[in-house]
This record gives sequence, structure tokens and C-alpha cells, in this order.
Amino acid sequence: MAVPDRRCPDCGVTMEGMTLRSTGGHNLQVVSGENREGILGKLGMNQTYGAETLVCPECGLVRLYAELEE
Ligand SMILES: [Zn+2]
Repeated sequence: MAVPDRRCPDCGVTMEGMTLRSTGGHNLQVVSGENREGILGKLGMNQTYGAETLVCPECGLVRLYAELEE
């Protein structure tokens, strides 16, 4: 998936893609409370998404994006 150019709202510099992990070494996931697939989905199943992390090299601001399908 192509990462669009994203800039820090404070510094205006391009933020770098990084990996955010728990102390146990697991990648973090984003979990929705409801299924976005509607009638095609399975009832009671939460949707999980990968998390894309961007870090500003200037001020250290971290932004986290859920990797939603188009
Ligand atoms: Zn910044």
C-alpha cells in the first residue's frame, strides 16, 4: 500500500514510517467495536487492522493510522 506524503502539523516536515510494538514485541493492531462489512460479515466479529505509525523526526510526534481497505 502506497503511503501518501504526510507532514507533521507542527513542524511541516515529512514524518517517517516506523513500527510501533508493545514491550512484548507484538505489533499493535486497531480493533473496531463493530463489523464494517455489514451483511456480508460475521456477527460478533470485530474487525482488526494493521497500524501504520508515522513519527516526526523533528519533534517526535507519533501518528497512528489504521490500515483500512479502500
Ligand atoms: Zn514535528
